[in-house]
Formats: sequence, structure tokens, C-alpha cells
Amino acid sequence: MSTTLSDLPPEMRAFTILKTSTTLAPRLGRLTLPGRKALETPHYLGNTSRGAVSHISQDNFQKNTSINGVYVALEDFVEKLPRQTPPLYQLESPKDESPLRDFIALPKDTVLVVGARRVPCIPCPTANTNSALSIYTSVGFRQISAEDYAAASRKVRPDIVVGLADIPYGQPQPGLKRIDKMSDRTEEWTKELVSQKNGLDKTAKAPKASYQIFAPILPLAKELQTWYLDHLIDDMLDDISGLAIYHAQFLADLPEQVQDLPRLSFDPPSSPGALLYQISLGMDIFTIPFITEATDAGISLDFAFPPSRSEVSGGEDAGKKYTLGVDMWQSEHALSVTPLSDNCSCYACTKHHRAYIQHLLSAKEMLGWVLIQIHNHAIMDAFFAGIRESIARGTFGEDKVAFEAFYKPELPEKSGQGPRVRGYQFKSGQNETKKNPAAYKVLNAPEESSSEAPTPNPDAVAGDLEKIGFAETAKS
Ligand SMILES: [Zn+2]
Repeated sequence: MSTTLSDLPPEMRAFTILKTSTTLAPRLGRLTLPGRKALETPHYLGNTSRGAVSHISQDNFQKNTSINGVYVALEDFVEKLPRQTPPLYQLESPKDESPLRDFIALPKDTVLVVGARRVPCIPCPTANTNSALSIYTSVGFRQISAEDYAAASRKVRPDIVVGLADIPYGQPQPGLKRIDKMSDRTEEWTKELVSQKNGLDKTAKAPKASYQIFAPILPLAKELQTWYLDHLIDDMLDDISGLAIYHAQFLADLPEQVQDLPRLSFDPPSSPGALLYQISLGMDIFTIPFITEATDAGISLDFAFPPSRSEVSGGEDAGKKYTLGVDMWQSEHALSVTPLSDNCSCYACTKHHRAYIQHLLSAKEMLGWVLIQIHNHAIMDAFFAGIRESIARGTFGEDKVAFEAFYKPELPEKSGQGPRVRGYQFKSGQNETKKNPAAYKVLNAPEESSSEAPTPNPDAVAGDLEKIGFAETAKS
């Protein structure tokens, strides 16, 4: 363990490292925030869309998941800035309570992490400026200044705020000049966040805001952001409680002074194998877009860490790799009365069988995706619990090798249709084809016209609106 925060007694530190060997090794930790459930790391945060984990309503979140923390993107809420005050900012909450937590009905003991952009985010057509970051709100592309972002953090009071990072998404590989700018701006923006947190007038002893700041680490080689890192360590180290890491490779280059800080990955892993790789480098906390991507594709995750030994040795199946997920669209499940996964104790697996879920998907019933999403999060909870036990036992390295030998490297390909694609899931461009097929054609077909109009189906109405250019998906 290195020395930076060791002056503080362990009970005063939000993040405690329970077990680590060297740098670039898996480690166990615990993130403890006042009034919240402790987050044992490595772990993941529920990745939200407009404040909710996709497909999971607030009551299901409490009753049927064990998610201890969520990541929320501010760009989902600031659509009216700067001309009008967005609804989120109009909500008043009792002192020390977070208006954002109330706004999204998040349980009191769940860790709330806020960043500017979704994970993964849609690249914006306009570049960031010296003072502002481009974002994609529900009404289109906007910019948020570093000052406004800091003010928003004070206003919405999450547990953790991720500092703004100047990363040119969707643009060609930055040249040296642009790289200098990335480092300059990120330093400037992080400084703004720190100084606003501490109160602008330091002499007045304004009370410190209660949230913690996770400083971004740019997806650049260490030499290219030395200037930023030096300032971070020299001027802001006392105000930084964690790191937001945009490229897992950078863990090899982390300066010693920040080794003890919790590391939140913004380098989204594409598969469980990629996740294990990042953990092997010492990453602590993740947002994992592939959980919801699998759910949207109707794929129920089906893996465990470490894989069960008896199956590895395999008899007839020796040499055959197992799939990481089951495509529930396949008609082979239509008569299957087994649960999604044999050893899973989630709501979906204990109450329903594959045939029912296959039927729900075929009927495009929302409940199908709800059940798969509950199950997929339960699989991830068990996966991370297995990882933590494995690190504690000191067998992570060999368990990782066994996992790679047992399972296929990637999740199965999507075969069926997902729920309707939304505006925030893609960037609209010119000459594009429709992202969603027409859901229901009867109302549009002239030969179907009848004096007795059927009750409009919401999907059909959406299809009609899309035709005349009003739907979310038909942006110009
Ligand atoms: Zn399950």
C-alpha cells in the first residue's frame, strides 16, 4: 500500500483498500459513504437512462435487485438550459438531501454517482470549447459550461460527482495541439469543480458541499497529460476522492500519490472477459453497458465466476466452450419449463420459466425485457461476488484463466428485435433509414379504413407520429 492517504485513520477514509499486492494487480476495497450501503469493490454501478435502470421501475429496483449504486448522466436532465430552468433544478429538497435522488425516486441508501455524459455517450457534432462540454439532451445537442456543471453539482448534491473531461468523442485521433488542449481544459474544469465545492469565497468559510469528486484521467499516455496530473496532485489532491479512468491501460501509469483512490472505469468492457482483464489491472468500480445491451437483445446472461470445476473437466464436452448468454428469442425455448439459469435465485428464475419469457418476447410484451433485466443484474451481482471471493482467496489469476477456457470470449450475437430504439441511443444523420420498423401498419393502410375506428394502440400512434415527423426517432 502506498502512503498518500495513510495519515488519515481508516474510518475517516471513504475508500479502504482491503487487499492488494502490487500495482497492476486485482484488489479488494470498500467504499463507505455516510448514510449509504457500503460498496464492496470490485463492483459495478447500475447504468441508468434518465434516472432509472432500463426496464426496471423504482419498486422493482428496491424489491428485486441488489444494485448498491447507480450512475446518472446530467445530460438526461438539463434539456432546458440555459434559457429555462430544467424541472430538476426547480425541486427543493430538505437540507442535505439530494433533489436528484428525490427526482428519480432512488432509495436513500443507494450510492448516487453523477457524470455529465451517458455511458456510452453519443458523439456531439459540435466540438467542446475552452469553457464548455458538448452534451446530448433529450431535445438535442447543447453545451454545458464547467461553471454550470459545478453549480449543478452543488444543486443536485449526489454522493459522487465525476469531473468533466475534454475527450473529443467521434472525432479523428487528436493531434498534439488538441491533446494539449484536452489536458489544459480538463485541468481548468476540475479546478472549477473543486473551487465551487469548497465555496467560492474561501475566507467566508462557506460550508463545504458534501459530495465527493472523482477526477477524470484522460485516455492518453502519461507523458501527454503530465501537466494535468502534476496540477491534480500538487493543487487538488486533498479535494479528490477518486479517479474516473477513461482507458484501462492507464492503470499502469498511475502516479503513486493517487494509488489509494478508488478507480471508476469509463472504459466500458465489451464482455465479462474484458471486465476481468480490467479487474486484473486493479480497476475497482464499473458501469457496464453490455448488461442492458444483452437485455435489449433478449439475451439472458448465463455465466459464473469461477466456472464450476466439475463442468470444466467435461467428459464428452471437453474442449467445447460454453456460451455467456442464452438468446431467448429462439423458438427452442418455447416449451422449456427450466429457469433462465439453473443456479440463479433472482425473481425471474424463481417465478417464471424460459417458455413464458420466450412468449413475452415474441408478443413484444415489456415484461419480457423486465424479467431478463432483473436476471441479468442478478448474474452480474453473483459474478462480482465470485470475483471478490476469488481475490480474497488469492486465486483470481487462475480462476480468470479457467473462465477464459470455459466460456466463449464474446456474448452471443443479437438475433431478435429489441425494444424501440430511442433518440439517445444513436446519432441522427442524413439519409438514414428508419431505426425502428413500423410497429403496427393497420391504421395506415387505406384498405383497412372503416367507420368503426379501433382503439389506437400506443405503438401504432407512435408509428403514425413518426411518419409525419413528430416522433423522437424522426429528428431532422
Ligand atoms: Zn435469474
